[in-house]
Amino acid sequence: MGVLYEIDKMCRSFIWHKRDGKFDIHYVAWDVLCKLKNQGGRGLHSAISKVGLIRAKFFWNFIEKIESLLNQNLKAKYGSDIWNAEIKRESSSTWRIIVNGAMSLRPIVRWEVANGKSVNALNDVWILDMSLLKWPTFVVDLEDVGYGLNSFIFDGSWDVAQLKKYFGKDLVELILQVPINSGLLTHSMELKTKMTVKTIVGMISENLEEASVEENHWNWIKNQKLLHHVDLFWWHMFTYVMPSKAFLCHRRLSDQVFCLRGCGVIEDENHIAAGCSLLIPVIKLLNKRGFQIPTSSFLYCINKLKRLLLNNPFVGNLYCTTMFLSWKS
Ligand SMILES: [Zn+2]
Repeated sequence: MGVLYEIDKMCRSFIWHKRDGKFDIHYVAWDVLCKLKNQGGRGLHSAISKVGLIRAKFFWNFIEKIESLLNQNLKAKYGSDIWNAEIKRESSSTWRIIVNGAMSLRPIVRWEVANGKSVNALNDVWILDMSLLKWPTFVVDLEDVGYGLNSFIFDGSWDVAQLKKYFGKDLVELILQVPINSGLLTHSMELKTKMTVKTIVGMISENLEEASVEENHWNWIKNQKLLHHVDLFWWHMFTYVMPSKAFLCHRRLSDQVFCLRGCGVIEDENHIAAGCSLLIPVIKLLNKRGFQIPTSSFLYCINKLKRLLLNNPFVGNLYCTTMFLSWKS
């Protein structure tokens, strides 16, 4: 871990330190820079954030090799229920890595149902390829029966009466098709898709990505193939880190809050996007020629821009570039 921290530190220094040993301004948090581009970041690589993925790969190798000396040893010391194991103060670092790996791997494996004790009926994947929590229509709370799948299994078979209490008719029929392998001594699982261990890391990343995808303006603007500088300008606008006068003043890096072009108003995102006296004549000129470029607040411009880029990429592109050139001037 120490080595990975050092690597991240070196990357941060590369971005923010100037050649003469002085520090540059940290406009954006490191975590934001490390987010994927479609999540509003710049897709930088953080070594620390990959720890869970690497541990999952290690863990998968561990459970695949049941007869290995490491497997036998750790089971003897910590018990065989690895999926629900906890990290204690006295746990060895190997065990910590194994338990962390299990946590990262859990969302991408599908359980083979035995007695159901280790399987969380809502959170784990045991039917088709999605946990019930992710099903759009599933609303029943299982709090009063506990979340273990064993509440729905009786004497090696599905307890139909119990299932009907908590699940809809169609879902019960689907569940009844899930085979119960009561001959399994321990819990068993398979990867949702048949893949090699090399792709496990990719699958977990994908799962994390799915979990954190939110409505993000950056998702649609990044596909417009804007020129690199224009692209970067808009990324600053969307993440509210434009080094405008308002931004610099807020961070006590400037005592001048008004637009330097003599507009007499505070220079913030709204002013840059639609209010600057240098920009308005250009937009008016373009609109006279029928381009319909918005001239209101930043948020209004974003919504209008979204439609423009979808329906008329050329005008959208023109708007983005005009804004950038006006700012650059
Ligand atoms: Zn201005």
